[in-house]
Amino acid sequence: MKNIIIKVLIFVTILTIIANFFTIKFLEYEFFIRILLIIFLVIDVVFCMYINIQFRYLLMRGKKAIIYADVSNSKLIKLYYGNDISNKIFNDIYEVIEKCVKKGCVKRKFKSHYAILIKYDNKREIIDLVNKINNEIHKINYNDLVHLTIKFGIQLCDDESYEENENKAELACNLAKNNLLNIYRFYSESDGESQIEEKKMLNILIKALKNNEFEVYFQPKFDNKLNKIVGSEALVRLKQNGNIIPAKDFIDIAEKYAFTVPLDKYVLKEVCKKIKELKKKKLTFNTISINVSRSTISEENMIEYYLKTLEEYDIKRGDIELEITERDSNSGGDLTNIVHELCKKFNVSIDDFGIGNSSLSMLSENKIKTIKIDRKFVIDESESGRKILNNIIKLSKDLGFEIVAEGVETKEQQDYLKSKGCNVVQGYYYSKPLSFEDYENMLKK
Ligand code: C2E
Ligand code: MG
Ligand code: MG
Repeated sequence: MKNIIIKVLIFVTILTIIANFFTIKFLEYEFFIRILLIIFLVIDVVFCMYINIQFRYLLMRGKKAIIYADVSNSKLIKLYYGNDISNKIFNDIYEVIEKCVKKGCVKRKFKSHYAILIKYDNKREIIDLVNKINNEIHKINYNDLVHLTIKFGIQLCDDESYEENENKAELACNLAKNNLLNIYRFYSESDGESQIEEKKMLNILIKALKNNEFEVYFQPKFDNKLNKIVGSEALVRLKQNGNIIPAKDFIDIAEKYAFTVPLDKYVLKEVCKKIKELKKKKLTFNTISINVSRSTISEENMIEYYLKTLEEYDIKRGDIELEITERDSNSGGDLTNIVHELCKKFNVSIDDFGIGNSSLSMLSENKIKTIKIDRKFVIDESESGRKILNNIIKLSKDLGFEIVAEGVETKEQQDYLKSKGCNVVQGYYYSKPLSFEDYENMLKK
């Protein structure tokens, strides 16, 4: 269909040029040729509009739906077949969809994403259509190793604009990808609410960074054998309407949208400023740990940026430690290589050890300094929970790591950890995260 339209457009454009030529050559027929010219141009414009899905959406009367289709294993297909063949596959899919869609039109969004606008009478028709497209696509047989899996999000259009409706179909399609059993999902209002809340939060975060509404708190780490503070962790806080909001309430959204990249840089600078102050006042703080997200460490030039910032504030590398965690929502590839480079320049600790994806090979292949045992293992007093905790401590010691236990809230937990040889603890039992002023006062004591 699209090919035919493009051919017609080329034909009409050529006719227009010829008509122009004749207008100049045969001036006596000028009026007649000019009329022809206008007709051609009108045809041209109407065709241009006809292939525009938004325009068709405006013209379409009756019940209409937008189906968003996405090849969910497109990355694998690209990797497996290479660019040329995968492009051909995605083109073939487009043609299959065009052939199946009788009452509507199709727009190719990105390489492997397609928006379909259709007229319908009942939902069954739409389900039949997506099943038909799915069956036809499975007939595109490149080889038996990589199967095409396509998911559909369906929005039964309301009065909102085309874009709004397409966004909803896309959201439903993204949710359909999480469901192995169904190839399609109809959009429902509750799908949108969580997305809207996320976007609101993201906007608050972006504004807060511009308006300096983030503050860094410090939670001391105690060595209960030496009975003194042996470091602290910098934890970011959001100040909103007089409230102090902890990182756990926004960090997942921040990480999902890679907002942690500018946020981590901000925290790094704030920590550098505070270290400078502590040094000036001759207060001993040992090291301050800074959390760095997966997006941050995956950034090109991250190491250079951190080194340059330390230099700018005249801070030694040993004054800080970087805490990395593998429990981020954007879990992408393996972090081992990046961590390897990071360990060459900084003291690195593995945060939330035991609940993330940190592999044992990552520990053995890199010069990691510290393991932070997640709170989950500190509070789990079941027999198997204790076995896991004991073995994490034993393994960490055998491998020569320093150990910090997180989230220690009671004397019993502290005593148990001490009896197993884990002396450095961080948690409410000793201190909650403190504002810089309170932290300074604690160091003075
Ligand atoms: P985390 O690095 O594991 O930090 C420990 C979290 O446990 C902190 O929550 C801390 O306030 C809380 N905590 C400490 N002691 C106790 C305790 O005894 N009991 C309980 N229930 N909780 C305790 P927070 O500050 O809300 O931070 C949550 C997570 O957000 C952090 O986990 C860290 O992964 C992330 N985060 C914090 N600041 C930053 C930052 O500047 N950059 C990045 N990328 N992530 C950050
Ligand atoms: Mg941490
Ligand atoms: Mg942790």
